[in-house]
Amino acid sequence: MMIKKGKAAGLLLSMIAISSMVFGQQKDYPIQPVAFTSVHVNDKFWEPKMEVNANVTIPYVLAQCKKNGRMDNFLRAGKQLDGDKLSEFPFDDTDVYKAIEGASYAMQNKKNPKLDRYIDTLIGIIGAAQEPDGYLYTFRTVHAKKPHEWIGDKRWVNEEILSHELYDCGHLYEAAVAHYQATGKRTLLNIAIKNADLLVKTFGPGKIEEYPGHQIVEIGLSKMYRVTGNKQYLDLAKFFLDVRGPKGDVYNQANKKVVDQHEAEGHAVRAAYMYTGMADIAALTGDTKYLNAIDDIWSDVVNKKLYITGGIGATGAGEAFGDAYQLPNMSAYAETCAAIGNVYWNNRMFLLHGDSKYIDVLERTLYNGLLSGVSLSGDRFFYPNPLASMFQHQRSAWISCACCISNMTRFLPSLPGYVYAKNKNDLYVNLFMSNSSNIKLTSGNVNIVQQTDYPWKGLVDITVNPVKTTDFTLRIRIPGWAKQQPVPGNLYSFMDKTPLPVVIYVNGKATSFVTEKGYAVLKRNWKKGDKVSLALPLETEKVLANDKVKDDRGRFAFERGPIVYCLEGPDNRDSLVQNILVDKNAIAEANYKADLLNGVDVISIEGKSTKRQLNSDKLIETDQKVKAIPYYAWANRGPSEMTVWVPYEASAASPKPAPTIASTSTVTSSLKNVRMYGAIKDQYEPSSSGDTNYPYLHWWPAHNTNEFVQYNFNAAHTVSESKVYWYDDGPWGGCRIPVSYKILYLKDGQWVPVKNTSPYTVSKDNFNTVTFEPVNTTALKMEIQLPVDNSTGIHEWAVK
Ligand SMILES: [Zn+2]
Repeated sequence: MMIKKGKAAGLLLSMIAISSMVFGQQKDYPIQPVAFTSVHVNDKFWEPKMEVNANVTIPYVLAQCKKNGRMDNFLRAGKQLDGDKLSEFPFDDTDVYKAIEGASYAMQNKKNPKLDRYIDTLIGIIGAAQEPDGYLYTFRTVHAKKPHEWIGDKRWVNEEILSHELYDCGHLYEAAVAHYQATGKRTLLNIAIKNADLLVKTFGPGKIEEYPGHQIVEIGLSKMYRVTGNKQYLDLAKFFLDVRGPKGDVYNQANKKVVDQHEAEGHAVRAAYMYTGMADIAALTGDTKYLNAIDDIWSDVVNKKLYITGGIGATGAGEAFGDAYQLPNMSAYAETCAAIGNVYWNNRMFLLHGDSKYIDVLERTLYNGLLSGVSLSGDRFFYPNPLASMFQHQRSAWISCACCISNMTRFLPSLPGYVYAKNKNDLYVNLFMSNSSNIKLTSGNVNIVQQTDYPWKGLVDITVNPVKTTDFTLRIRIPGWAKQQPVPGNLYSFMDKTPLPVVIYVNGKATSFVTEKGYAVLKRNWKKGDKVSLALPLETEKVLANDKVKDDRGRFAFERGPIVYCLEGPDNRDSLVQNILVDKNAIAEANYKADLLNGVDVISIEGKSTKRQLNSDKLIETDQKVKAIPYYAWANRGPSEMTVWVPYEASAASPKPAPTIASTSTVTSSLKNVRMYGAIKDQYEPSSSGDTNYPYLHWWPAHNTNEFVQYNFNAAHTVSESKVYWYDDGPWGGCRIPVSYKILYLKDGQWVPVKNTSPYTVSKDNFNTVTFEPVNTTALKMEIQLPVDNSTGIHEWAVK
């Protein structure tokens, strides 16, 4: 438990804090993180990113919260602003809380009096929006004439499904605790306590017995318990887990009691937050029933449901975990929030078990599928983080559901809290980044200085400065990737199975060491200035996926140390990468490019590009130099092609289209999003109408309208056949095959229907071909009648 004495300590709170210090230790994780307040990061890789977060992202997100009405929600709830206009979602309050949480960590990392004052003002506004009994949820308190349909006519009645009232509370508590720890001020904490006390009065056995619709309040209440010592908060957190299931939906993990869940299912962010909460409550109560469940779920994820980038939640349908080995690349959902949740969860699993394999997953997620969530500039964001693209993905300046944006904002400055952990006289070094830290062990205080060029170099220098010469054990994580085990389990493996030695020097001398649970154990009598150097064998590796992952068959991925690479258009010939083939045994070289993407290693390797030709199935192959950049840094140079998994078998490559009438035409359409236009003429045939692994064009959410696409030929052509493959993502998605369509051609400036010689058919999962009397024209147009209740899309449209 961490207690930092506040400057304006309320009497009651001081008494609670003091009482728990006097009357004994709370039960908690056997291993304790070294708090972010004790770790000063001055790292070449991470410090600039944290500065961009502090100088760009946090002010940007606060400004966006203001611009998009989130601050006004609080002002209106507090009667400081007239009217009943609200922003879009009842969980919008959380973006403000998460921004405050991020700002708190950032102010701890670097003082910022102006931000501090702004946050104080904001907390005043939040306090005014709180109802007298502690209820805080602007969407109800504003009493809009037309209330949001998610909120229910009374407090909590829609909680299990849509209202997100407890979700808002959870983020409030996390922000309040962070703000208190970083600044010592109790202003937001007092608001949170008043709110948590209301929950204690409202929920529990014999009171309202409902589970949170979107988990996170469990984590928040555990934090509140640690800071205040009020055990009712912990009991309530446990209640919220135990009351869950078995009569709810798998969507939010309410179809089974939590202790009966053994596989990762449903909405990935809710799941990751719940598993994190289960770990917290297991640690705080000593209840081992939760552990059996989350140990099994963890194993399910790392063996069957984890992207090589550390992303989780494969499918956009329900923002959910897919089936085992269902890991599509272009349509990968891998939400940024889920990556952050995966870091939270794996950190807790480590604190419970003391095994480095959890930090291996954490590190993989951190450097890849989490970091990809924000642009290098700090003001563009990914919600899904795909592993392949054909121009259709790009980071957004803002997303009306801003969860991922505010989550990035709060996560990055909290990073110093993940570097070290301790257990009495065991000091764990988990992450490698330059920093200086003051850590309190049972045997005394130790200053630790880490210096490294990680992740580009494998050398880490650790200087140990105990205040007085003392015995303790340094446990240094030997990353899985340095032992040719990229991920615990058998989902991914390196092609090269021979590990290179990991060497540890103590005061310049190579030292033998034993490893326990993945940590090199260095036990000695440490004196000031003792220097440990860790030399990790950082090589370019080719990663293979388990053959059961069909989307990665015939492909490998590049990895160097913790960094996963991708091929991106701007670094490769014709700005194309989907058509690239690289021999499995080709030798890669890596070079650091200081002026590219803020400084990255670039991998170069000999490969080929492939191209289709007319009237032959044989591909045209051309030798070319292939380049790969770190995955996290892609999509910083405009829309492009990208792939993490590089084909080594021709069958896995997607050749450049042959020069057909369609591929040489320009597209116009009733659809405004021009980025989708290329999809219909890319010559990739989907495996079914619902295949989301190739680009497609769609009109969603339009329905019951008449739409068109049109090919403007590069010259007059005579055509007599049209082949169209419809996109249909039923039953869950919003697109279905159309009601009807027809083909028209341009004749003397007028659109004239073709005279079809075969019937127009509209069917799923195949090409719909129509032949017509030949016409010589410069443009062909397809008019499409959308279904009454659904939209429509097109995978491919070929003309002959
Ligand atoms: Zn999100």
